[in-house]
Amino acid sequence: MAGEFRQLTLFPELNKVHEETADTRPPMTTMWNLWHGCTKVSAGCAHCYMYRRDLQNGMDPSVVHRTQSFNLPVRRVRGGPWRSRYKVPSGSLFYTCFSSDFFHEDADEWRPQAWEMMRIRNDCTFFMITKRPERILSHLPEDWGDGSTYAHVQIAVTCENQAMADIRLPIYLKLPLAYKAIMVEPMLERIDLRPYFEAFPGAIRSVSAGGESGPDARTCDFAWVQDLHDQCAYFHAGFSYHQTGARLIKDGKEYHIPRRYQHIQAAKARLDI
Ligand code: SF4
Repeated sequence: MAGEFRQLTLFPELNKVHEETADTRPPMTTMWNLWHGCTKVSAGCAHCYMYRRDLQNGMDPSVVHRTQSFNLPVRRVRGGPWRSRYKVPSGSLFYTCFSSDFFHEDADEWRPQAWEMMRIRNDCTFFMITKRPERILSHLPEDWGDGSTYAHVQIAVTCENQAMADIRLPIYLKLPLAYKAIMVEPMLERIDLRPYFEAFPGAIRSVSAGGESGPDARTCDFAWVQDLHDQCAYFHAGFSYHQTGARLIKDGKEYHIPRRYQHIQAAKARLDI
């Protein structure tokens, strides 16, 4: 994979500099689903939103395919005042690979080109979440180094229960990543991260928790979220209560929360650090 990366010269025109006028366009937040489709790996995948939507549309969600958005970060504007500039302005945030897993084995062939695009667009931020941390190290670009060259690429890991935390975190927390973040979503049980905060001091920069959405959502107990918040506060890590999910237990009572209120209700808990 490393040799393959060196040989790539994706789009020779990419390095052209367009300095005539300053680019005053504001940054944007955009989705970059460069490939689509995935295979389930753990309990958190049971009610995968992408699976549900694809099956409704008569598609096979287990087939991983490159999408038409593949080269989005390096697409150019064709006309007008910003002609030949990148379509996505400098400073933008790309939510990367949210309808697949960036480290899925069926995407190995395309990943070197994706790294090249991210390297070229180091004026933007790329954020991705994986359930396959065991594949990260062997599929980083050869110029990754200690991760500082790619500090604009943030790779978070998902741990939906204690078993997955205990499998994934010992791998993930040793990786040469400039920014380490843990997503506990959907949160399926109480999770103890203390052993990892203690074994890897200062490594976990932030933790995000949330319940499950959709018609078959599993319950999330607010006490688990509160406990995770307390762990993060104690170890000086960031914390975000992203959303309640559709079925929330609080003080022993179960609440069914419509999708449109799930983020609002989580924000009202004021747990973010
Ligand atoms: S890893 Fe993510 S995209 Fe893939 S099946 Fe699981 S939840 Fe869905």
